[in-house]
Amino acid sequence: MIFRPGREMAVTAIICLSGEGGAVISAPMTAAVLTVGCRLNQAESDCLRGVLRDRGFRIADEPAGADVVFVNTCTVTGNADRSSMALIRRVCRLTPKPRVVVLGCLAERAGDSLTAIPGVDEVWSNQRKQAEIVDAFPLPVRSRALLKVQDGCDQGCRYCVVSLLRGTPVSLPPEMVQERLERLVAQGVGEVVLTGLNLGKYSAAGIGLAGLIASLLKVPGRFRLRLASLEPDSFDERLFAVIGDQRICPHFHIPLQSGDEKLLAAMGRNYTSAQYARLIERLLAVRPDANIGADVIVGFPGEDSGSFERTKAFLERLPIAYLHVFPYSPRPGTLAVGYGDPVPREVKAERVALLRQFARERRWAYARRFNGTVREAVLEPGGRALTDNYLRLFCPELAGVKCRSRHLVRLRIEVHGEDLLGRQEDL
Ligand code: SF4
Repeated sequence: MIFRPGREMAVTAIICLSGEGGAVISAPMTAAVLTVGCRLNQAESDCLRGVLRDRGFRIADEPAGADVVFVNTCTVTGNADRSSMALIRRVCRLTPKPRVVVLGCLAERAGDSLTAIPGVDEVWSNQRKQAEIVDAFPLPVRSRALLKVQDGCDQGCRYCVVSLLRGTPVSLPPEMVQERLERLVAQGVGEVVLTGLNLGKYSAAGIGLAGLIASLLKVPGRFRLRLASLEPDSFDERLFAVIGDQRICPHFHIPLQSGDEKLLAAMGRNYTSAQYARLIERLLAVRPDANIGADVIVGFPGEDSGSFERTKAFLERLPIAYLHVFPYSPRPGTLAVGYGDPVPREVKAERVALLRQFARERRWAYARRFNGTVREAVLEPGGRALTDNYLRLFCPELAGVKCRSRHLVRLRIEVHGEDLLGRQEDL
């Protein structure tokens, strides 16, 4: 399925902000968009900022003093729920109180209870959010632009609530992706991150993700592409071929979730740990310097100490460079809710701590490999820079200098203790 622009719908919906029930919101007004959650949510917040700017709103970084505050929420875990609720409550307590619009996956899942919070003026469903931003050009708040090209997932992982809330896969037509990329490159954006809920499910006009990337690499200009999270089954020979291009950042995030076969099957994942290991090996053969990371869920129902030890031992054998570790929390509406939540909270916390310590060691081991090498980096405000292989550097020479962020530069990496420094090679 392909999503296409619906300008009238988007404009009408934003005008609704000025409507019902009193407080009239009309430009020039100030709007702030706050985000909890994944890159896809961040990409959608960037698009919302773009729509608001086009409607004449001034965009503020902070909610204090804004006339309208949008809170783009997440519900992927219990922690995401809590962070979203805390942010909504904080915004509702501001004085003067802005108009508060809550959207995102928590709004989709628990809209009624959010409407009941004193101070919340509007709650948008995911359908409404998509209608608002479908025709939007992103207004990045960071050096890298997030370009959403896909949404939805029909993989059916048993713990996943987000796919239930976002529906089946849809993709942006390739000509629209290309046009957006050209505009971003013309604005001097050095790095564009292709995002989607399940990016590997990109499919439009007869082409898949590999075909899309191949066509984007024909866009003229100095830029690089980074791929957001990719499910293991996204990889095929065509994708391996295109990611060999040096303009694709050697940084890949590939959710694993567990290294134990029994748990992978219980989660409804469609690969074995051996297949995952072969994938990582193949990826490193194509891009030997790649920074490869994984997600792992700890404490899924059925994870006994043996399963956990198998996952830990598997991770120790894998040449991955970082890890995101999440304690399992049952999500309403998912199949896994029926399995209960038998792993005690303290056991989960202990396992999370162990894997996070392992993750820290791996991250630094990877960074140290690049000590003294020169990498291409995108500049960020405050003297920071992000290399193609996802090392975040501090550049003392650029800290006080007003540099043109977003552009690509070459930096020599220096590792000093727990500091990663970047020294200018050119500007
Ligand atoms: S592949 Fe990702 S988005 Fe799709 S159901 Fe599984 S966890 Fe959810």
